[in-house]
This record gives sequence, structure tokens and C-alpha cells, in this order.
Amino acid sequence: MKNKKKFSGVDREWIDSLIHLFENIFELDFVTLTYDIDYFNSLDSAHTNIIDDVKNVGSCMKSYRMIYLNEKILSGSPRSETIRTLLHEFGHIKHGNDESRVLKFERRYMP
Ligand SMILES: [Zn+2]
Repeated sequence: MKNKKKFSGVDREWIDSLIHLFENIFELDFVTLTYDIDYFNSLDSAHTNIIDDVKNVGSCMKSYRMIYLNEKILSGSPRSETIRTLLHEFGHIKHGNDESRVLKFERRYMP
């Protein structure tokens, strides 16, 4: 059965605002967002980084500057989780796959 939980229009608007804010703060332009897991996974033609939308709250494809947010999970979670996930994915755009640097980046702004 398909889980239909989604962000509201108002939620999507503040998430878009956060993306623009983070683009400015971290000087990373042209970051795009998708809520479509099939589209996101289709970007990785080598299929090396398939994201499981049951477990993953978000992911990013650095070369496309594309962030995926899992609204099925995040729409039912505290908003701080969405902020933290976005921050984490921006960290990946900045620092690539170096998870320890990404976590340091995340904790610097959201302890
Ligand atoms: Zn990570």
C-alpha cells in the first residue's frame, strides 16, 4: 500500500524559503529540491546510490546540486528534522561524501 503522507503547500513554501536562505548563507547557488524518489534515483545512471524511501529522510546528488527530501517521513516529524536534513544535504553539496566533515558542518549550525 502506498503511503500518501505529504507536506502541505505552506510547508513546501517554508522549505523553499530555507533552501534560498541556505544557498545565500553557504554560497551554493542553484540547489534544487525534489520530493520524487523515482526521479531522484533515475539521475544516478550508474545506480550506485539508490535511495530507499522507507529508511532515508533525505539525500543529495552533488553533481546535480539536487536534494531529495522524504516527505512521507518528514511531514510527520518535527520541523527541526526537516531543517536538520536540509542542512545535512547542503553539507554534502559542500563537502561531498566525507561524512565526518558533513556531520561537523551540520553540528556547527545545529548542535
Ligand atoms: Zn550524510
